[in-house]
Amino acid sequence: MSDDYRLLLDSTIQHLNDLKSRGARFLSISGETLQALQAPAPRPRAAPAPTSVPSVMQEPRPSPQSRLTIVSTKPAQTAASGDKSSRFEELRRRVLGCTKCPHLVASRKSVVFGVGDLNAQLMFVGEAPGADEDRLGEPFVGKAGQLLTKIIETMGLSRESVYIANILKCRPDTPGQSYGNRPPTPEEMERCLPYLHAQIDLIKPKAIVALGATAVDGLFGKVPGIGITKLRGRWREYRGIPVMPTYHPSYLLRPNPQNVKREAWEDMMQVMERLGMAISEKQRGYFLAKPGA
Ligand code: URA
Repeated sequence: MSDDYRLLLDSTIQHLNDLKSRGARFLSISGETLQALQAPAPRPRAAPAPTSVPSVMQEPRPSPQSRLTIVSTKPAQTAASGDKSSRFEELRRRVLGCTKCPHLVASRKSVVFGVGDLNAQLMFVGEAPGADEDRLGEPFVGKAGQLLTKIIETMGLSRESVYIANILKCRPDTPGQSYGNRPPTPEEMERCLPYLHAQIDLIKPKAIVALGATAVDGLFGKVPGIGITKLRGRWREYRGIPVMPTYHPSYLLRPNPQNVKREAWEDMMQVMERLGMAISEKQRGYFLAKPGA
């Protein structure tokens, strides 16, 4: 490996470590760059061969293990899926650079695009990033997010195997307030929705879970006087995809009657059935009121 290459590699590693220490967990990277990184390290140009240097003093050739390799855990991409991921990357680039809401551009720390598998069968749609999500650039990573992750795992899935996004990609600003959240305005949602449409159209999940009233209103339009209690548990359709409205995890974190958790779980079991997933007896019994309780 040449000195120049080693220097470049060290600075890149240093830069990535800096980003990580500042809380970054994901890095947007183009398909081209990824390909370039997967190429073997360039060999130093051959020096004029001195006849008398003993072989032990010669620079060792890099072993296959010492090369910088980006390991993909996914099967090799087909042309179609490669095209899908490059279109997704292009979309991500557009969303990360969005300036449609200048007040949110001024207040945001990050644009929270979405996370998960772009071939996911199941997609979760929330409202908007909160403070934790804004800081880390990933949806549902705060307390509500931890509960969502638990729900996903209780279904027998993983956070990595589904896709998670929000109606609004930037945290709604709260001028003059140092804490708290506000729901997105209809105008903000209208400006941001085309991005969610594009995500849905590329991922083409078999089902979508809409988390909470704002997500449902954002997708279907607000019907005054109809709250999530009435909307939840009944399939709807959005852009040709079945949508199950359910409670937002932050609502489930509040002290609620036991039946609210059971209702949310029944919604998830409907989703599992729709996806053809097996539901065990144990899973069927979660959050059922104990006899005599
Ligand atoms: N609530 C949401 O609706 N979305 C998030 O990403 C976090 C909390």
